[in-house]
Amino acid sequence: MMMEIREIYCNNCKKVLGRYNVKYYPDDKIGDLIKSSHERHVREGHEIEIRRIKKS
Ligand SMILES: [Zn+2]
Repeated sequence: MMMEIREIYCNNCKKVLGRYNVKYYPDDKIGDLIKSSHERHVREGHEIEIRRIKKS
């Protein structure tokens, strides 16, 4: 079965902050998640990228 994953990547820290299954974390939840869990990066003005990954 095909699974889609959102990967939150910080361009300043050069690391993946988290990977989330789209099924459980739709776009609006990802936004909330970045604000709550990865707030430090946002506060410091880091460039956060959301990548889409497809897995089978
Ligand atoms: Zn960062």
